[in-house]
Amino acid sequence: MSRSTLETTGASNDTVEDHYDSPALRLGPILFDEHLHWGYWDEDSRDASFGAAAEAMCHRMIDRTEIGPGERFVDLGCGIGHPALKLAQARSCHVTGVTISGYQHRIAGEKAAQAGFSDRLDFLQADARSVPLPDKSFDGGWFFESIFHMGHAEALGEAARLLKPGAGLVLTDLPTLPHTTPEFMDFVHEHIHSVFVPEDRYPALMADAGFELLNIEDISENVMPWLETKLREAVQEKWSDVVRLMGDQAEKAVDNWYYLFEYMAENLGYTMITARRL
Ligand code: SAH
Repeated sequence: MSRSTLETTGASNDTVEDHYDSPALRLGPILFDEHLHWGYWDEDSRDASFGAAAEAMCHRMIDRTEIGPGERFVDLGCGIGHPALKLAQARSCHVTGVTISGYQHRIAGEKAAQAGFSDRLDFLQADARSVPLPDKSFDGGWFFESIFHMGHAEALGEAARLLKPGAGLVLTDLPTLPHTTPEFMDFVHEHIHSVFVPEDRYPALMADAGFELLNIEDISENVMPWLETKLREAVQEKWSDVVRLMGDQAEKAVDNWYYLFEYMAENLGYTMITARRL
């Protein structure tokens, strides 16, 4: 598997919107049971599938929010809306999900209707760096594996504008490590439209955007070493669905994912961060 193979299978799209609209990225929710983010594993859950661990990660995010019944929450980079639905169910709050992808926006709306949650969920196809809603619209928010697509400072600035004073912000991020290579940074910029930053950038990023940084939790060991094996298991289990979506591109598509996950696990950590709007 090489970088040029990735290029010939269309893994490189011009924009982040094309990237998430592409068939290859529609594989994510198939492999991860509707989620479009990574999982959390520990010794007690070592047998958990990718989807079950993604659900566990989502619950860790929900546990770190302080949102309550009837309050308004914003999910910045919401995928197909599964975490938003889980949060609305767990906390009886209203969630507005924002995604730049037209495909995800459509599926998220359909899923909310199917779940009978259209009155508590709404989805906007918009850039999370300029959301067409007034200042101080929300009582809480999160970036769930999405901020690295947006430019950290700009994304946090917009979150600060949208949140009321005192509102909680939760996010997951994939910080660079001391040994992260420039070749890796070029690769992820080109292929997955991502810019990663070191964890020690966070105190200044949060302060500059108007947040009090509350906690940075390094959960790299619960995510990165598990990714490739668990992805391979998910592909095996869901192979007929993968072929239904990707046709004769299925092998290449999953090879791209293996390559990417391995490369990311070598070069990035995983953190969960909480902050409060000042
Ligand atoms: N939070 C979801 C999806 C994570 S994938 C989940 O955990 O399941 C990253 C998400 O960020 C995708 O939905 C993608 O469309 C969105 N995204 C990336 N850049 C964006 C931008 N500038 N504005 C809005 N959404 C963006």
